[in-house]
Parts: sequence; C-alpha cells; structure tokens
Amino acid sequence: EAKNGGRNQVRFFDPDLQKVLESRAAMEADLRRALDAGQLQLHYQPQCDVERRVIGVEALIRWLHPERGLIPPLEFIPIAEESSLILDIGCWVLNTACRQLAEWQKQPSMRHLQVAINVSAHQFNTHDFIKSVQTAISAHGVDATALKLELTETVIVNDVEAVKAKMLVLKAFGVKLSLDDFGTGYSSLAYLKQLPLDQLKIDRSFVRDIATDPSDEVMVKAIIDMANNFHLQVIAEGVETGEQLNFLKLHGCEAFQGYLFGRPVPASDLNFMVEGG
Ligand code: C2E
Ligand code: MG
Ligand code: MG
Ligand code: MG
Repeated sequence: EAKNGGRNQVRFFDPDLQKVLESRAAMEADLRRALDAGQLQLHYQPQCDVERRVIGVEALIRWLHPERGLIPPLEFIPIAEESSLILDIGCWVLNTACRQLAEWQKQPSMRHLQVAINVSAHQFNTHDFIKSVQTAISAHGVDATALKLELTETVIVNDVEAVKAKMLVLKAFGVKLSLDDFGTGYSSLAYLKQLPLDQLKIDRSFVRDIATDPSDEVMVKAIIDMANNFHLQVIAEGVETGEQLNFLKLHGCEAFQGYLFGRPVPASDLNFMVEGG
C-alpha cells in the first residue's frame, strides 16, 4: 500500500479521527464557556483521623453541565490538560478553594480544617505558579498552613532541583505538600528523600484489594513504612470498608479518605456533616 505513493496521503483524512478531533475541540470550547459561565463547582470530601474526626477535606472539581448534569473530572480534566485551559481552571480552583477556606476559618467548628487541592503538573511548572498561590492566599486572607497542594509524580520527572526550589518557597509560605496517587507513577525513592513533602497519599487502586490481593497488601505496607521512615504523614484514599480501614490502621496509617467516611459534597453539605457529626 505504501507503494501507492502520493495518493496514500488522502488516507490521512480519516472521518472517524476527524470526528474525534472535532468533538474534542467542541468539548474544549464548551469547557471554556463553562468556566466563564460559572458551571464549574468544587465538592469537598472529608479526610479523617483514627478517631474518625474530620481533619481536612480534598477539593474535587465537577462540571454542572446544563444538559448532561454533573460531569466528573476524569471526563474533562484530561481535555483541559491539552491546552492552556488547565491553567485557567487551576487558577479558578485555587481561588475558589481559598475563598471557601477563608469562610471556614471564620467558623469555630470548621477552622481546624485543612483544604487540599489538586494541582496539575502543567500548572505547577508555570513560572508564575508561586505568585498565583501567594496572591490567592493574601487575596482571601487565609492561614496558609491550612492549604495543602496535592501534586502527582509527573511533576517531579523533569528537573528535580527546580521542583525542589519551588516547593521550598511554598513551604516557606506555610503551605503543605502532598504526593497524590503514590505508587502509580515512576518517581524514585531518591526524589522522595530530597523533596520537602509533608504527606504521601496511597492510591485508591492499592487500597481497593488490600484484603484480597497479597501484592497490594505488600505494597501498602511498604508505602506506610517508607512514609514513617521519612517522617511523612500517610493518607489512604478510597477507603470503602471497615476491613480496609482495620488493615490500614494495623499497619500504621493514621489518615483516611473514602466513601466509608463520606463522599465529595458541596461545601454547604459539609458544614452540616462536620457540625452534626
Ligand atoms: P484524586 O485526586 O486521586 O481524587 C480522588 C478520587 O477518588 C476522587 O474522584 C474521589 O471522588 C474518588 N474517591 C474518593 N474516595 C473514594 C472511594 O471510597 N471509592 C471510590 N470509588 N472513589 C473514591 P474524582 O472526584 O472523580 O476525581 C478524579 C481525579 O480528577 C482526581 O483524582 C484528580 O486527579 C482529578 N481532579 C479532581 N479535581 C481536580 C482539580 O480541581 N484539578 C485537577 N487538576 N485535577 C482534579
Ligand atoms: Mg487528589
Ligand atoms: Mg489521589
Ligand atoms: Mg487517585
């Protein structure tokens, strides 16, 4: 077929591919409008200690689409990641979460809460990321020590020294740093030791089969031990059953997030949960 030479090029016009590209472009345009129209929302999921007290929340983005209803982040964040849209969304998340944090810091029953936000690697790697965090903190007048940034291992694969320098500036503001989805990426242990992290977050995929899959059991134990050895807090995500919780507690994990404790909910529902519970 390759011998057909020039005529072959016509085959690059693949109607299926064309459709995929068009629908992605449409989605991206839709998403940009959604951001401007206020259709993006943050929900907050509790993070608990061994006594089941809510010690913090993770902010998780949703798109309230006028026709399609609530769209989960995995359906639109990857599309946003392909353009600068992820930077605008990231900025919106940072400011929305800080505004909410400022509200909570005024309420006695909520003022102890840590708020964690997810930061995309693109966002972290922009030259003005530090400045945008500093601006959000001061604009909303929040106590920066209650703000936690969840980073993934993809942040680290590039220039470790540059990443470390950035992290140290954030740490100097008081901001906490967590390594999300730990165990799923490629970061080496050497990085772990070098970086000024506060927390490791065990990925949900390891927690899920903890009680039935021996290799996940080994993995989770190893992560907890490692975190303890490096003096990092460790939190398990996706805790759904008492059995998973018991295993995690038994092996020294002291913070938990998952449906067992609560699903992500709008801030107004969380007020009720923490005060009532
Ligand atoms: P993540 O940061 O690892 O967030 C945890 C995900 O696990 C959330 O999914 C949460 O709803 C879900 N989860 C928590 N506990 C349980 C459980 O017990 N069982 C099950 N089945 N799931 C549980 P969600 O909200 O769909 O978010 C998916 C991912 O989208 C996040 O994973 C994060 O990578 C990304 N994301 C969410 N919000 C943002 C954001 O504001 N900015 C960026 N850049 N990414 C975000
Ligand atoms: Mg996260
Ligand atoms: Mg995670
Ligand atoms: Mg995850």
